[in-house]
Order: sequence, then C-alpha cells, then structure tokens
Amino acid sequence: MLIGIDDTDSPAGMCTTYLGAVLARRLIREHMRVREARLVRLNPNVTFKTRGNAAVALDVDGDPEKGFALACRIVEELADFSCEKTNPGVVVVESRLDPAFYQKAVTDFCEIGEATELLERSGARYRGWKNRRGLVGATAAVASFLPDKTFEVLAYREPDRWGTPREVDKESLFAAEEATFPHTWDTVDLANQVVVCVPHTPDPVLFGIRGESPAWVMTARAFIESEKPALEQIWVTNQGTDAHLLPGACGHLSEGLSYRVRGTVTGRPATGAGGHVSFTISDKEREVRCMAYEPTKNFREIIRALVPGDEIIAVGSYKKESINLEKICLVVPARDIRIQAPFCTACNKRMTSAGKDKGYKCRKCGAHEKDPEVQEVPRTLSAGWYEVPPTARRHLAKPLCRGVPDGG
Ligand code: ATP
Repeated sequence: MLIGIDDTDSPAGMCTTYLGAVLARRLIREHMRVREARLVRLNPNVTFKTRGNAAVALDVDGDPEKGFALACRIVEELADFSCEKTNPGVVVVESRLDPAFYQKAVTDFCEIGEATELLERSGARYRGWKNRRGLVGATAAVASFLPDKTFEVLAYREPDRWGTPREVDKESLFAAEEATFPHTWDTVDLANQVVVCVPHTPDPVLFGIRGESPAWVMTARAFIESEKPALEQIWVTNQGTDAHLLPGACGHLSEGLSYRVRGTVTGRPATGAGGHVSFTISDKEREVRCMAYEPTKNFREIIRALVPGDEIIAVGSYKKESINLEKICLVVPARDIRIQAPFCTACNKRMTSAGKDKGYKCRKCGAHEKDPEVQEVPRTLSAGWYEVPPTARRHLAKPLCRGVPDGG
C-alpha cells in the first residue's frame, strides 16, 4: 500500500515529514515493511502552504486497513489542529494513483473536489480533517512518479527541544559540504558564508542534507556534529529536479505557475527600491518582466550584466506579472554597444541632444556634432547557465551542479 499524508503543520510547529518518519517506525513496530519514504514538494506558489509545500508517501508492505488506522491515529496525535491553515489529509491506496494528478499538483493548482473524485474512483481509503485541503497533497504524494529523483536525510529533534535554538556545529557543516559537493548540495552557501540546511522555524527538523544518493547524503551526514537527534530518515524526493517547470512563452503565462521562457533582453536591467533588479524580455510579439529579488544576493550581479539583445532562457515562477528568476541561460550574448552624446573637445564636456534628428550641441560653446559616440564594451558574461545561490534556492529548483536543463 501507499500511505499519503499532508497538511499537518503550522507556523508554530510540527512538520509532515516528521509525522511520516514517526509513522514509518510505528508501522515497522507492527511488523510491516516500509519499502520507501517519499517526500514530494508541490507547486511552490500555493498560498495555503506553511513553508515548503511538502507532502509524504510511505510505500509499505502490510494490511491497508491497519496502515490507514495507524496513519489517522498519528495525525490526530501530532497534527497542529489549532491553526486555521492546518487541514490534514490521509490517503491509503493499494496501487499508485494516476500520475496526472501529481503532475498537476506540482505544476498547477488542484481543487479538493478533484482529489476526492479521484479517490472515490480508485476505491481509496481516505480521510480529511477540517476543510480537507490536505487531501490534495496526500493524493498527489500517492500519485507521484519521479523520473528524476534526489535524496535528503532529515534529522529531527527531541520533542523537549522544539522551539529552542538548534545546536549544530557550523564548521562541521562546511566540512561536510567541502567533502561531498557536488554529490550533495545546499548544506551551506559558500559565497555568502551562511548555513542553509538548518531551519530557523520552531518545527522538529534539526537539519537536512540533500544529495544524489543515500550513500552521499549519509557520507555528508557523518561529518555533522550537533545535539543528539531523536530520529533520522532518508527521504526519496523530487527536490532539485525542476519538476515544477513548464515550457512557456512571453504573454502566455499564468499566475502562480513556473516556466522556462525564451526571449531577448529589451533594455538594461534596473535596480529598484530594496535592491530588486528587473528587466524585460520579448519574443518579438510580447514582453514579460523578469525579477531578481534582493534575497538572490550575488545572482543580481549576473542579471545586471545582461545587455539589450541578449538571447536568454528565463526560469522561474510567474507571479504578479513577472518571472521571479531561479536561474537563467545566456544562450546568445549580444555585443554591448553603448551610444552616448559625444564630448565637446573644446569644452571637455558632454554635449546634449539638439533635438530629434538634429545631432548634438554643446550647451557651453554652441558647437554641433552630427554623430553620437559609439563604444563597444567588452562583456563580462559568457554564454551559459547562472543560478541563484543556495540561500535563495527553492526546494524544487535543480541546482546546476546536477547538470544543466534542456534547451540551453
Ligand atoms: P506541511 O509540512 O504540513 O506539509 P507545507 O509547507 O508543506 O507544510 P502544507 O501545510 O502542506 O504546507 O499546506 C499546503 C496545502 O496546500 C495542503 O493542504 C496541500 O494539500 C495543498 N496543496 C498542495 N499543492 C496544491 C496544489 N497544487 N493545488 C491546491 N492545493 C495544493
């Protein structure tokens, strides 16, 4: 059977993966075999999410009736029902559900009714609490197929420590990264010298190490010195796989969906209030704005180095009429030609426009010049992919250390 669970946590605590890890141990205690613990991230733009829009599925050999009862019991015991946004869902099926539902949940938005209709049609055992929204994620988890997958070992804290500062040795995290990157990633952010894998929220997670195989995440994990975890679980995940991306075209993007969009940079990127950098790309017919927000840190330097005419692939979620960049590919770099008013050689001052098609004029001595100054500036960016730093990476975004996406 597959047991899917979602929506058990709140900003004040709990974590659906912790609940899944505890359930796995209870199932084993009941002599059932847990073949796989799976953690799927769904559309990162759903507003109902608490943090990372995660749902879990356990692949178990055992009696489905008993599995369902144990899963419901653990949700009643551990879920944070006090929060209005916590609406748990539990699903048990005897074979994987239609993957189209997972595909929609990771790339788009699903209605609760779509989940229950599929569950009814499939003869699934299921239960939803409160508004039952968790059934969307729980159904997606037991419908998930992972053509590409990664792994994460999550260490969870003793319950009496929840909400207190985490004791994880920073140096040991940097040592883990140094010894295992690029087979593991996002443990720390070297360029920004910050720890990425230890959360700051009051949930049970102590740290999580992401990587390409169970062996690599456990190799990295062995470096880490910390308070004693209560339990640890290796999850099979869709994290770092770009599963949320759809092919997209300028002018044909939907709010809250994530895309790869090809276009030509139309103007020089501008830095606005708060340090956010924006520019526009066009496919000759339509335009779309792209944004690199302040938390993307040094990635903004790359974006500022784009010039009009650059042909790029912009990757990210379309929100409030702009693509929030996760990475870009500079496919064909343009020549950086800068056209300015010429200098007046007599006064050593820059001239100003004398009017449309009238050339330039020195405001001091009245000299005229027909042509502007044309200068080609050497490019600092070469063709290739560029990404946000680990500190700004979304769970589903595929890090470039795993290989470059198609089409660039
Ligand atoms: P948790 O650790 O509890 O899973 P979270 O940050 O992952 O926390 P949830 O509390 O699960 O967020 O909240 C997300 C809610 O949105 C869940 O009820 C889930 O069923 C629902 N959901 C997830 N993806 C979609 C989607 N694509 N369309 C509609 N609802 C969705």
